[in-house]
Amino acid sequence: MSESQTDVLVVGAGPVGLMLAGELRLGGARVVVAERLPAPTTQSRASTLHARTMELLDQRGLIAELGEVARDDTGHFGGIPLPLGVQPSRYAGLWKVPQTRIEEILGVWATGLGAEVRRGCELTALDQDGAAVTAVLRDQDGSTARLRARYAVGCDGEKSTVRGLAGFEFVGTAAGRELLRADVAGIDVPNRRFQRLPRGLAIAARRPDGVTRVMVHEFGRPAAARRAEPDFDEVTATWARVTGEDISRGTPVWINSFGDASHQVTRYRRGRVLLAGDAAHAQMPVGGQALNLGLQDAVNLGWKLAATVRGRAPAGLLDTYHEERHLVGSQVLSDIAAQATLLLGGPEVEPIRSVMSGLLELEAVRDRLGSGISGVGIRYPMEDAGHPLLGARLPHAELITEAGASTTGALLRSGRGLLLELEPRSSDREDLRTVARGWADRVCAVTARPRPGDRAVATRALLARPDGHVVWADGGERQLRGALTRWFGHPLPT
Ligand SMILES: Cc1cc2nc3c(=O)[nH]c(=O)nc-3n(C[C@H](O)[C@H](O)[C@H](O)COP(=O)(O)OP(=O)(O)OC[C@H]3O[C@@H](n4cnc5c(N)ncnc54)[C@H](O)[C@@H]3O)c2cc1C
Repeated sequence: MSESQTDVLVVGAGPVGLMLAGELRLGGARVVVAERLPAPTTQSRASTLHARTMELLDQRGLIAELGEVARDDTGHFGGIPLPLGVQPSRYAGLWKVPQTRIEEILGVWATGLGAEVRRGCELTALDQDGAAVTAVLRDQDGSTARLRARYAVGCDGEKSTVRGLAGFEFVGTAAGRELLRADVAGIDVPNRRFQRLPRGLAIAARRPDGVTRVMVHEFGRPAAARRAEPDFDEVTATWARVTGEDISRGTPVWINSFGDASHQVTRYRRGRVLLAGDAAHAQMPVGGQALNLGLQDAVNLGWKLAATVRGRAPAGLLDTYHEERHLVGSQVLSDIAAQATLLLGGPEVEPIRSVMSGLLELEAVRDRLGSGISGVGIRYPMEDAGHPLLGARLPHAELITEAGASTTGALLRSGRGLLLELEPRSSDREDLRTVARGWADRVCAVTARPRPGDRAVATRALLARPDGHVVWADGGERQLRGALTRWFGHPLPT
């Protein structure tokens, strides 16, 4: 069996694996992506990007690639309307991008940066020792090859092989209820957002191409134990029982079902093996959060793992991936479970829905739920959380730098950290560029003037990680040195 070597093996070229591959390359790691499918899937899946994910794409210069994108202001929480266009982000709202397009863009970006994507290549075995992981990869022609990598990351989806082979503990609850979903041509039913009828929940949305996506759940009906997707007769019979309408003369284009199962691994890392995306957390795809959560995992992990394989990571850096993303994941899964109850529960949940509708009239409640769904409210725990920006993401701001007009997002594009000092400088402070000189290979130091009237960054100086989260703001030089060392390792001699 032939054997090759790399820094990181990413298993799965779905959206999360491709995003991670690009991030690893930006950080200077060699990466091989092994993907079982010979060609990208054309299957219809997620279609919504939320504000934080759009910000991350902006940080990597990928927004223009999306082209014209339709945007909605209103999302929902368990089917109760929730305004998301008001979140404090340049990209507030819901952006309608098919998952196939996202994968295409990320694939071109990651391979352009030098990631090697091997298609038709399935991981069949994985072992780890103190120095590396050893993977066995099977090609379409049945031949196998061994790959040694310093680390492996399972981005191989809900049924993750990596998770099983590396012995991760995946805990949670099995599906109790399910929604049947079908894209149907040749039917004419009223559009419905989340219509609760006496016998169940019905959703229908007619697309410009004339195909209607219907989703239906019959109250009290348990999730079926399925080996295959439901057939069209099951969908039409359920639709008829719930709505009284006959859609059986339509032509099904695609049928699927999804339940309210909720699982998360107890640790995102086991030695040299890590998980991201659906491999780490499985949830009902409600409100488009599954995909967004996974892409955000990838951006959190990429720079940390790249620094680790390049021998530049400070102690404990890689473990912050679990600490930060497990926490966010469990909060999102808990919110999704609450939404599943509100959506799929029968008449018995009406009093709770009524209380929730009342609470959603309060701005603080809309803010708490909206900042979670959009991802803009994520604030990672920091030792010192005195400044409101610490742990939070660097907001969008229009700036004028020595090189001309720029934005906070554009300044993060190199994938390095960012030390941003806003003019006028404090006269009592040592030049921050001098302080950060020993980290110049990992942190880009920029002095800038905010565009007149732009007050988005409420601080005089800050340090952001490559994923855009702020780890120092307006502290003294000693704290800045501490933050640089804590997140970027020791300085090089200058
Ligand atoms: C039918 C369907 C409908 C969905 N609808 C929605 C929706 O409406 N809204 C929403 O937000 N989310 C939806 N989702 C979920 C969303 O698509 C996922 O959250 C998203 O794809 C997760 O991305 P990922 O990269 O983690 O995993 P995936 O996209 O699942 O990618 C994993 C990749 O790993 C590959 N792989 C698996 N095992 C191996 C192996 N052993 N070796 C090599 N490669 C391997 C797979 O071929 C796949 O390409 C849906 C998912 C499905 C399947």
